[in-house]
Amino acid sequence: MPLNFDKLLAAIARHAQTLTDAGAVADYIPALARVDPSQFGIAVAGLDGSLYCAGVAQRAFSIQSISKLFALTLALQREGDALWQRVGREPSGTPFNSLVLLERERGIPRNPFVNAGALVITDVLCQRYLQPERAVLEFIHRLLGRSTVAVDAEVARSERAHSDRNSAIAHFMRSFGNLRGQVGAVLDAYCAQCAIAMSCAELAQASLFLAGDGCQPRGARVLDPQATRRINALMLTCGAYDAAGDFAFRMGLPTKTGVGGGILAVVPGRMTICAWSPRLDATGNSIAAAAAIERFAAETGVSIFGGE
Ligand code: GLN
Repeated sequence: MPLNFDKLLAAIARHAQTLTDAGAVADYIPALARVDPSQFGIAVAGLDGSLYCAGVAQRAFSIQSISKLFALTLALQREGDALWQRVGREPSGTPFNSLVLLERERGIPRNPFVNAGALVITDVLCQRYLQPERAVLEFIHRLLGRSTVAVDAEVARSERAHSDRNSAIAHFMRSFGNLRGQVGAVLDAYCAQCAIAMSCAELAQASLFLAGDGCQPRGARVLDPQATRRINALMLTCGAYDAAGDFAFRMGLPTKTGVGGGILAVVPGRMTICAWSPRLDATGNSIAAAAAIERFAAETGVSIFGGE
């Protein structure tokens, strides 16, 4: 890693801070709408154990759809390739909470990162674990090597109380036989998983196995190399929903975003980057966090398409 990484991140944070006025905080639940929108943080974790931070990189925020990465990894550990009979691998080109493709495609969601796909993954975990949200949390603790992460109970409650659309998606898929458990139990687990709170530093460190071909630094194997590369492929093509093409164009890296304002990016073989700022664009992706990762990639030359 370059020696002046601290300076680079400080400059990126200063610039990103000027972008925090644009866009709007997710307001579909009151618990998220209350967050201070002027915050920005960024963390870069290296496979060599290094960690570089700027802004509020240690402050926990609602990881929301970034949790879909951990749930998918856990489900793949348990189910292997059988999972792909119930979830597709194509970008949807639709918003994360869209229902439109589900009827035509007979209850098989386009990919594991749209809500429909994540609900199927949660259903898989519900069949495997008595407390699936606990299983996701404990999995994150194992990845981090410490038990510092928790579900924000208020966000989870609020999310569950406003889950009409996810409930509709789940019922619809159940009518096609692609949801095995009870919709209520799947929604409980899904809403709790979305309400996990983590900092940029924690998210970058917990996801290093995605840069490490399936292994955490100094840790045991999490996933086999092929499955890990496939998750990265899905992040590149589907991780930012209907902005995935634009993100791939701007950053050249696999990313996963959440409506809490977090964006996680993977530089295979090298590092992970997590940036956070609460205000979102129309596709539900953080404006300042996306700009920060784009600038980081441009200034360091990291890209999965070559460079450096
Ligand atoms: N909890 C959110 C939802 O289900 C997650 C969406 C997101 O982060 N894109 O609508």
